[in-house]
Amino acid sequence: NSNSECPVDSEELGRSGWTVLHTMAAYYPENPSENVQKDMKNFMTLLSRLYPCKRCAKDLRKDLKDDPPDVTSQKSLANWMCNLHNKVNEKLGKPLFDCSKVNERWRDGWKDGSCDS
Ligand code: FAD
Repeated sequence: NSNSECPVDSEELGRSGWTVLHTMAAYYPENPSENVQKDMKNFMTLLSRLYPCKRCAKDLRKDLKDDPPDVTSQKSLANWMCNLHNKVNEKLGKPLFDCSKVNERWRDGWKDGSCDS
């Protein structure tokens, strides 16, 4: 649907959802306090209960149980989020993302300068 002023489907919700999640990980502190680490864990748990795509939320609850968020640093959280997204990519038959480039994609821009204005 070319009209952007309409309710979203699970694909569009997903694209916006990943934008929020990867950008949160991109700007997560290098040295997070205990409280910040707890908040991030709670955020993911609550997202897995409230995410408005029921089957996605169900799988997310299982993924969080199997591999809990690594909230100890920016790098570890960004990498963990990338792996989480790759699990969904794999399930949906989408290409896997190279997680060594996650900070280029979501924080610094590509090394070739293509994101510089
Ligand atoms: P998306 O997968 O939305 O990716 C957007 C952009 O992120 C890509 O263009 C790429 O630049 C970048 N990217 C891709 N992979 C990675 C990665 N591993 N790390 C960092 N950046 C990356 N859909 C379902 O059908 N079933 C589900 O169970 C399901 N679970 C979901 C769970 C969550 C928490 C979220 C946020 C979404 C979920 N979705 C699910 C939606 C699905 O993941 C996609 O968002 C949707 O299918 C649209 O896909 P897309 O090809 O446009 O790109």
